[in-house]
Amino acid sequence: MTLAHEGQSAAAPGPPWPDTAAATLREQLDRLEAFGQLQHVDVVTDPRFEVAAVAQRASRGGPALRFRQIKGHQLDVVLGTDATRERIGLTLGVPPSEVASRYLEALTSPIAPVVQASGPVKEVVRIGDDVDVLSELPVLTHFEHDGGPYITSGIVVAEDPETGVRNVSYHRMQVCGPTDLRIVIVPRHLHAMQQKAEERGEALPVAVVLGVDSAVRLAAGTSGSVIPLGFDELAIAGALKGRPEQMVRCETSDVHVPANAEIVIEGEILPGVRADEGPFAEFAGTYKPVAKKHVFRATAMTRRKDAIYQGLVTGTSEQLLLMGLPNEPVMTKAIRGVVPGVRDVHVTSGGLHKFHAIVSLEQRHAGDSKDAIIAAFASHRDVKLVTVVDHDVDPYDLDDVERAVAINFQAARDLVLVDGGKGNPVDHSLRAGGTTSRMGIDATRSFGDSSQRHVRAVIPGASEISLAHYLDD
Ligand code: MN
Repeated sequence: MTLAHEGQSAAAPGPPWPDTAAATLREQLDRLEAFGQLQHVDVVTDPRFEVAAVAQRASRGGPALRFRQIKGHQLDVVLGTDATRERIGLTLGVPPSEVASRYLEALTSPIAPVVQASGPVKEVVRIGDDVDVLSELPVLTHFEHDGGPYITSGIVVAEDPETGVRNVSYHRMQVCGPTDLRIVIVPRHLHAMQQKAEERGEALPVAVVLGVDSAVRLAAGTSGSVIPLGFDELAIAGALKGRPEQMVRCETSDVHVPANAEIVIEGEILPGVRADEGPFAEFAGTYKPVAKKHVFRATAMTRRKDAIYQGLVTGTSEQLLLMGLPNEPVMTKAIRGVVPGVRDVHVTSGGLHKFHAIVSLEQRHAGDSKDAIIAAFASHRDVKLVTVVDHDVDPYDLDDVERAVAINFQAARDLVLVDGGKGNPVDHSLRAGGTTSRMGIDATRSFGDSSQRHVRAVIPGASEISLAHYLDD
């Protein structure tokens, strides 16, 4: 764990680590390729299961993939561009260890998007009857029992026709016909906008954006619990890039979309209509059964001539990182508001980048460690397990964290249990009503205990030694 994290340092061999952000998915792909992080697949690959199978295998330590020969389709498919902190750091132009802090800066100093007349996403324009999502796009079918092809990396942009408030968020979409899609809208910002339109008996115009860089993808994954409805997620993307996101107006509505995206599907969410959606394998690796969901009708498609379709396989590190990485800076900020000595928060991959957090802390007052646990619970409702360690423990080194639990933690004294809060529905252990228990492990040294027994034993020179010097053959 330590090695993997440290191995993502700016000192890795290859071209110099960039210090500015890639502006588009294409620039990101160029960077990944230059750093040996992207490979092309030139064998014919089936969009039904085969692409997802290869991508899932590659997600465990392999490179990002660009499929050049999708069976029955002209367009390329790319996956895995954001599967590691290293790739995201490379794209944002920061060392991997600084991705979370860069993101926190972006949250606090957003840069609003700007509108321009046109852009690459308008190279091909299809309106009305000319739209056929299924035949034009290599939409992937992922898991054995999935109900069909699903758009899983679609970023949905909505703009309130009355207030102009924009929202940007991820929603899975099942493609059922040329212009007939199902969209899953959980009760967050888009849901509120759709309900308001539905109460007026109106469809809500939205656009589905495909093929964007890390900054836009991360911004779209920002949880509504930290930014209120009305906070434009694309202003976070602008801040991550250090320049405003360039937008263009849709062909069939007043919604605006990133001008440099690969593909945009314009459409509307129909009022008062629900239809079957599913089954679909969710991020925890089990199926959501068929249920009645909202209906999206496509009204236009615009794209680049040689558009690249961006896929995403649920449960892979790419999906978990994109959804979960924003949780770290958000939690850091929230916990630091209560306990200023917080150094770092690691939301672990084993906890699906959502449920388990490790907080490293410089204790300044008695009680800081317990209050950090309570603040962590309050910072994100999905959090179920919080482990607090001292600042000299690396929260990204799970062995180091477990060591701290082993030698500092006494359950009778250091366990914090809060029962009966709201849980996340993918958690199979929830009780009736969907409630959960939250557990905090205080694995810090007792406050004020600076005795010699806590000093980490070090062999002089061990960390500087080059082993090769001694093992010369
Ligand atoms: Mn929002």
